[in-house]
Amino acid sequence: MKRLLVIFLLLILFLVIGLPSLLVRGCRQEKESAALPPPTVDFIPIVSPVGEVLLTVYLPEKERVMTLSLEEYLVGVVCAEMPAAFAPEALKAQAVSARTYTVNQLRAFGGGGCDRHPAADVCTDSTHCQAWLGYEEALAAWPAEEAVDNLNKIRAAVAATAGEVVTYGGELIDAVFHSHCGGHTENSEDAWSTVVPYLRGVPCPYCAGTRWSETVHEFTGAQFAQAVAAYVAAVPVSAAGRPLLGGAERTSTGRLKSVTIAGETVTGRDLRAALNLPSTNVTWEVTGDKVVFTVKGHGHGVGLCQYGANGMAAQGKTYREILEYYYTGVEVSLLPST
Ligand SMILES: [Zn+2]
Ligand SMILES: [Zn+2]
Repeated sequence: MKRLLVIFLLLILFLVIGLPSLLVRGCRQEKESAALPPPTVDFIPIVSPVGEVLLTVYLPEKERVMTLSLEEYLVGVVCAEMPAAFAPEALKAQAVSARTYTVNQLRAFGGGGCDRHPAADVCTDSTHCQAWLGYEEALAAWPAEEAVDNLNKIRAAVAATAGEVVTYGGELIDAVFHSHCGGHTENSEDAWSTVVPYLRGVPCPYCAGTRWSETVHEFTGAQFAQAVAAYVAAVPVSAAGRPLLGGAERTSTGRLKSVTIAGETVTGRDLRAALNLPSTNVTWEVTGDKVVFTVKGHGHGVGLCQYGANGMAAQGKTYREILEYYYTGVEVSLLPST
């Protein structure tokens, strides 16, 4: 009985003192976290020193055309084309490069618009014009805890460079870029066909040791034969299923110009497409009925190297220095005022 009384008294004591203090602590904690302002997207319109440039954008998945300001459109391009974790100066270099690329397409600036969707200046198909993400898509694509900061960071990079483009001899350049050059960017004529004075290959130690520096891709003879079947008439493997590869011709930077498969010549670009390799900077080893490709870089390798831009930014280089490094003899200038 006495024991029951003690338990009862303790319970009363808890109800009178312990419970309220727990509740107060709970409330206080809630109040403290509620007091922190929720992270918000900086939706202040981006003002360009050259005035507002409007463009029409075709959205293939929605099958409609919308009108946007150039600077707001570029936020969506940078969101889609460069990892948000990259340094601010790299994001700014990407913004200026993407702005130059875009303005070249605008009818208001003498461009031809998007030739696949004639009602628009640009489309959001990354295999045709530039990739683009709307705010909601961009925010949903990032982890929730960093999404708003990422978008604010990209908006700041676009705003800091508003109206700026890359020119060569006073003309807008063809501001091509790629993900990772693998150690040396490529001359335009080696990737495509024309010599472009500002698209010269440059050594790029800045992208070393990152995601695409070296990747390995293994195929069985059967997988290899199936993948290259559209490019060669002959059977591309030996009777033992051994992939028949030889006679590689390379550009000055080591990228594959052409290769012979079962005696037929296939371009490096076609081999890359057939096997879905990240670049044409490939070497391989045939062992038994397997072929293993080692690939450096990701993308065509011409113009701005994105991973390199991030590496230069990490070494304290500005976006102007980055652009002037990857595009030979260029200037960063303002668009003519509208
Ligand atoms: Zn297009
Ligand atoms: Zn590079």
